Amino acid sequence: MSTVRAPERLFVLLGDPVHHSLSPAMHNAAFRALGLDAVYVALRTWDELVGPLMRSVAGGGGGGNVTLPHKGRAATALDHASEAVRATGACNVFWWEQERGLCGDNTDVEAFRRAAEAVLGGPLEGRRVLLLGAGGAARAVAYACIQARAAGVEILNRSTDRARAMIRDLGAPPGLRLVEEPAVVRSEAFDLIVNATSLGLSRQDPLPLDPGAVSVRAVLDLVYSPEETRFVDAARRVGVAAADGRGMLVEQAVASFRHWFGREPPREVMLRAVGLAE
Ligand code: NAP
Repeated sequence: MSTVRAPERLFVLLGDPVHHSLSPAMHNAAFRALGLDAVYVALRTWDELVGPLMRSVAGGGGGGNVTLPHKGRAATALDHASEAVRATGACNVFWWEQERGLCGDNTDVEAFRRAAEAVLGGPLEGRRVLLLGAGGAARAVAYACIQARAAGVEILNRSTDRARAMIRDLGAPPGLRLVEEPAVVRSEAFDLIVNATSLGLSRQDPLPLDPGAVSVRAVLDLVYSPEETRFVDAARRVGVAAADGRGMLVEQAVASFRHWFGREPPREVMLRAVGLAE
């Protein structure tokens, strides 16, 4: 007789949609490799349920991640928010602590820095960055760049009002500048272009920018799909080093795992689960 097991610890991804996510494959592979009695599932949910779900899953000894469009709601549900959550207004990982209750962090911040340094081949400090987008992911990128003392971040977004609001909410540091006229970036030189728009999720989407029209050394596309994204393809074709969002995804998962288990996850197993290692 087959039985459905009840693992000791439950981890969930809360978002909408979640069917495309690589997180269950990554975390369950890590749990299996370490022999942990735990399971990770993706749960499509809506706004009002985010706080109650976080509290019941974490209070029961588990935890989880939060993705689009619930990271902002998750940030407001916490008893204890990390500095990165307070600065960006977004939470992507949660867990329970006896003394502090429902805790949360934004591991996209650290994950972006690591992924950016990998594609740049060195630190973010002193680099000129062109940031495309002003949504939740762009906030984590802009904050990480300020923390890492990047030389400057030019922000180009479809809605300039949203980009203005992002700069204001991050405390309007001198390094963050709004690009009001897209043509201006063609006459400038950048170390790194980051695509933090959702353009590229579908192969039919237009490119967020033509990498051949801008002077740049490296491109990091936060979007990921089973094969390389069109933006990464386009950058490589003009000789620019480029990486898609899977590296950042693994880095935020590694940091999430540390919060849940207080130990290092098997990084190679996670890289393999997303197709970044043999
Ligand atoms: P979001 O808050 O919904 O922001 C979406 C951004 O995309 C906004 O800047 C929006 O511009 C722009 N955009 C959407 N449609 C557009 C279009 N047709 N033309 C031009 N710009 C458009 O989403 P998010 O949470 O920031 O996520 C953005 C992307 O990053 C997603 O693809 C997500 O999967 C990816 N991401 C990856 C990782 C990772 O670990 N690799 C982590 C986080 C996010 P407006 O402001 O003008 O609407």
